[in-house]
Amino acid sequence: MSSADPRTVIIGEGVIVRVGDLLGEYRHPLIVTDEQVYSRYGVSVDELLGIKDEWLMVSQYDAGSKGIKPDIDIILGFGGGRSIDIAKLLARDNGLDWMAIPTAASHDGIASDVASVSHNGYRYSEKCKSPIAVVGDLSIVSEAPPRLRLAGIGDIICKTSSLAEWRLGHEKFDEPFDDGIFSFVSKALDSVLNTDNLETLIRAQIDCGKAMSQFGSSRPCSGTEHAISHAMDRDACDLHGLQVAFTTPLCLHFLNEVGYSKHSANSVIEFMRKRGMPTSLGEMSIPRNLFLENIHHALRIMEKRGRYSVLKHANVSDQEIGHALINLNY
Ligand SMILES: [Zn+2]
Repeated sequence: MSSADPRTVIIGEGVIVRVGDLLGEYRHPLIVTDEQVYSRYGVSVDELLGIKDEWLMVSQYDAGSKGIKPDIDIILGFGGGRSIDIAKLLARDNGLDWMAIPTAASHDGIASDVASVSHNGYRYSEKCKSPIAVVGDLSIVSEAPPRLRLAGIGDIICKTSSLAEWRLGHEKFDEPFDDGIFSFVSKALDSVLNTDNLETLIRAQIDCGKAMSQFGSSRPCSGTEHAISHAMDRDACDLHGLQVAFTTPLCLHFLNEVGYSKHSANSVIEFMRKRGMPTSLGEMSIPRNLFLENIHHALRIMEKRGRYSVLKHANVSDQEIGHALINLNY
């Protein structure tokens, strides 16, 4: 893959001190964050930047008014998913560059060019642009609640399903495909399957974001497992990464049946159980019937997006899904 934004990635203990240098010619950043992050790091960030910065709390962000002070020349997203998403939207709406300074490694959007926006109970993606830099300070990210990190791992291991289904969609339904991007995402996936290291996880998330930006769609990193999770968002919403990981073994089960994916459903379940990730309907607090309904809704989402689902390819009935759920101990 050719190089693209983020052109600078700095990951390590205490690397937040590098943000000042990275700003270079930029003189007036707007930092998007939440109250918790601000109260913890606000003063020290003001001090280390040493220039006239402004802060915007995500709770104060109004999607209707996109205006910011005219002398703001860059946006910094400093926080969790929402801070990063709002930084993306503000950068796009004001024609500015932005930087990601994540405080949690909970999903693969830290360096992607799409923002996740909530509307009428649905989450959907809005095209923005990639950050010029990502600063992953491990001493900050390691303090995030462990569930967020598990969600981050979940949003990578679901690539066992999305990648295989992407290839299936290409071979059976002529979906656009790119070998280089396929192996780039596979590498990111393998790195997280092989180690629980936080830096590895952040790098994998950045690489997945890059892959989606370069391919021009989320397809390499998002298949039926994501569509089911989006359908689940309408009712009980858990962390994105936990939901997509939860639906992954089911999709893998059918991908394995039709001869796709080198990863077995059971190996992913074992990986998840070892780390305490939810793998059963009970742990996700979702009734079986509602889950089935979500699967049907997901198939409509896939159809609408022109994406070929393994469930459609295998022509699975509710009964077969029911058997799979029992076999996989859902
Ligand atoms: Zn995802």
